[in-house]
Amino acid sequence: MRVFGIIGYPVGHSLSPAMHNAALRALGLEGVYGAFEVHPEDLPAAVAGIRALGIGGVSVTVPHKETILPYLDELDPVAREIGAVNTVLNLGDRLKGTNTDWLGVKRSLEEAGVELRGRKAVVIGAGGAARAVVYALRRMGAEVAIYNRTPERARRLARELGGRGYPLEEIGEASGELIVQTTSVGLESWESPVPEEIFSRFRVAMDIVYRPLRTRFLSQAEAAGCRVIDGLRMLVHQGAEQFRLFTGREAPVETMYQAALEVLEGGEKGR
Ligand code: NAP
Repeated sequence: MRVFGIIGYPVGHSLSPAMHNAALRALGLEGVYGAFEVHPEDLPAAVAGIRALGIGGVSVTVPHKETILPYLDELDPVAREIGAVNTVLNLGDRLKGTNTDWLGVKRSLEEAGVELRGRKAVVIGAGGAARAVVYALRRMGAEVAIYNRTPERARRLARELGGRGYPLEEIGEASGELIVQTTSVGLESWESPVPEEIFSRFRVAMDIVYRPLRTRFLSQAEAAGCRVIDGLRMLVHQGAEQFRLFTGREAPVETMYQAALEVLEGGEKGR
């Protein structure tokens, strides 16, 4: 029986166990994926545990995505460039860190038919998740503008990964093919970091927050006629790529989406 899991703090609300276990079952693979709550000070011991117990691979979430880097033996070039690891693979003699978050973004956009080469894309936020978003948009050939409450953070991210950084107050002047919301504003609240009027200047809007699934940002974008993409698509596609790396098998993406959606909707009803 192969063992996989997610490490984070907290991790109790993670949708990853439901997603990965549904995929293992759907393909008839023997294995189990658990949720491991790892306090920041226990991270080195948890990484040693992956080696000692022969855990096949783990997903890594907040707050360990950057702090885990020094404990791994190898980083792939993408994780190094993004500066964060969301996946650890146990290759037997070594632990390798990689990052599938950016592919989650890219595949969510591709399946919606979004073409960005030479086009403008706007990113709201410059935190950890924004790094994978900006990386994906640049790889897709977009001209990226990053707007953040703390403008220096937007400028730094733009310097490191490409694009231009602006203060969030200047969002009123933005336009483009795509706008992506990556801040925590709207997470379990009915708020949006941008004024409603701006959506008429974009064709596609994506929110990476998925609690609730239809955020205020997406509702306003949809009302203005934008094509909208919810944050669960990114979560599922990054998880599907992890599953492929863990098992060597193509992931049943829609099975994973439905399993995550069931837990999410169950949680929302339970509140
Ligand atoms: P983070 O590193 O803490 O960054 C938070 C970002 O939100 C920063 O840009 C911050 O601006 C901004 N922000 C926070 N409060 C704000 C406010 N009141 N007004 C304006 N901006 C505000 O967090 P993160 O790890 O990037 O995560 C952000 C969100 O993405 C979370 O809700 C997380 O659940 C979601 N996420 C989703 C996926 C997925 O697969 N769908 C993956 C990863 C994360 P400052 O720089 O000014 O502080």
